[in-house]
Amino acid sequence: MSADLSELYQQVILDHNKRPRNRGRLPAANRVAHGDNPSCGDQCSVYLRMDGDRIGDISFDGSGCAISQASASLMTTLLKGRSSAEAAELYKNFHEIVTTGKEPEEISDIAAFAGVHAFPARIKCATLGWHAAIEALKGGPNVTTESHTD
Ligand code: ZN
Repeated sequence: MSADLSELYQQVILDHNKRPRNRGRLPAANRVAHGDNPSCGDQCSVYLRMDGDRIGDISFDGSGCAISQASASLMTTLLKGRSSAEAAELYKNFHEIVTTGKEPEEISDIAAFAGVHAFPARIKCATLGWHAAIEALKGGPNVTTESHTD
């Protein structure tokens, strides 16, 4: 990765951490899941309002390290409007990037997290919000899932 690209990706994480998108409880949510990452102290709740099989609206709320909060913020921007199958596919891509460091061919915000693979303890931080979102998608209406990342 070039120094410029590395810098750009650093900015993506800093920006999402400083100005989180879709943060706060979603009053109209019909699915909620909570994830926590005890090894780092990160907490993340994900709220979904499903329109049929599509994520009509999404938000997250939580606290923790910069990686966990920035990743959850980015996740909400990527999953909004997606079907559950598309969301699962995006999570698969993201998971591969953070565990292997393999960057997608196109420059994208998601690739900002590729550097995380060099710090195995932080992988759980990066996947926490995504994991909660996938759990929320799997759950029925008004189901709260206590999930621990693996
Ligand atoms: Zn963390």
